[in-house]
Amino acid sequence: MRCQNPVFIPGPTNLPESLRRAVDMPTLDHRSSLFREILQPALGGVKRVLKSRSAEIFVFPSTGTGGWETAITNTLSPGDKVLAARNGMFSHRWIDMCTRHGLEVIVVETPWGEGIPADRFEEVLAADRAHRIKVVLATHNETATGVRSDIGAVRRAIDAASHPALLYVDGVSSIACMDFRMDEWGVDIAVTGSQKGFMLPTGLAIVGFSPRAMAALDMAKLPRTFFDVRDMGRSYQNNAYPYTPAVGLLNGLKVSTELLLAEGLENVFARHRRIADGIRAAVSAWGMELCAASPSVQSDTVSAIRTPDGFNATKLVSHAAEVYDVAFGVGLGEVEGKVFRIGHLGCLSDVLALSGIATAEMAMADLGLPVRLGSGVAAAQEFYRSTTAARLKAAA
Ligand SMILES: *Cc1c(COP(=O)(O)O)cnc(C)c1O
Repeated sequence: MRCQNPVFIPGPTNLPESLRRAVDMPTLDHRSSLFREILQPALGGVKRVLKSRSAEIFVFPSTGTGGWETAITNTLSPGDKVLAARNGMFSHRWIDMCTRHGLEVIVVETPWGEGIPADRFEEVLAADRAHRIKVVLATHNETATGVRSDIGAVRRAIDAASHPALLYVDGVSSIACMDFRMDEWGVDIAVTGSQKGFMLPTGLAIVGFSPRAMAALDMAKLPRTFFDVRDMGRSYQNNAYPYTPAVGLLNGLKVSTELLLAEGLENVFARHRRIADGIRAAVSAWGMELCAASPSVQSDTVSAIRTPDGFNATKLVSHAAEVYDVAFGVGLGEVEGKVFRIGHLGCLSDVLALSGIATAEMAMADLGLPVRLGSGVAAAQEFYRSTTAARLKAAA
């Protein structure tokens, strides 16, 4: 027999038992009234998780990448200019997709490990007097480097330049884990997927469109059919899809948003922060550094940990998988071989986090890194036991 260990990759995340059951449904007719009871609460739940009153929510059978494509093809035309920072593999891939769609991307190259430089964006936007830049793209949480950017600051930069550009945010590894304020930050399109903060299997692209993004639909000339939000919106009025919906996943999304909202979004964010702080305590006990350049940009959903020069971090990930049957994330792109990643998003507890830290220590010791067994575990244990809800309550 082989027991299932938790995964520590930054998506797909571990499935809570209740969500695993929610997606496991008998076939039901997606044209029946039963489907309405799944679709409408799922859309409404997502809207609340995005902290939006005015967004229209669309959910496609796809992944986060399909959400990017939905955002650009529905609102832009060939040759349109967009502005983006490249500070990791995911922002790089979004830029690449824009280029392949014939958009002109102004790229602000940013060291991997740093967040989006809002001040540079402001300069570029202020210089664009003719307002040719249509959209600013921002990756909220760079999953490759474990770096969170300040989306509120990006919005302030756009406003300070008095620029009309729309703001599209990739929140695939932040939404439902870290604070995300669609309306307050003036986000025009928010993109995520089912397999990260929503703790579901892969298979849904989830997007929110602001009224300004909706107003751009008819002018946009990029071709789209499967991802046309106008078709999707019309079908939603009849509680249907333009094609066959992923009913089980949508039911999972309904139940997932219920779970998140019952816990309370602020509590969900605080839980992710606390788990992440424990992981960070372990990393510093190991004498190692995060890829994130400063504490202010550290992600609460994934930690990219730099290994010593000359050591191949990818070996650590394959060793942990082969010997201990535990999955960590490899370094991608510029940081390939230089970092390994611990994903700590979604359904996780102190105890599960400790098992990941302990496994990373064993793998590092096996491969000859100067890490004392138990050092990271002890640091995280101290942190977790001093900050459990029960202790905080007793001390109050
Ligand atoms: C996972 C991820 C994606 C890609 O999502 P898929 O669902 O794999 O298509 C995009 N952006 C970020 C920030 C991610 O973490």
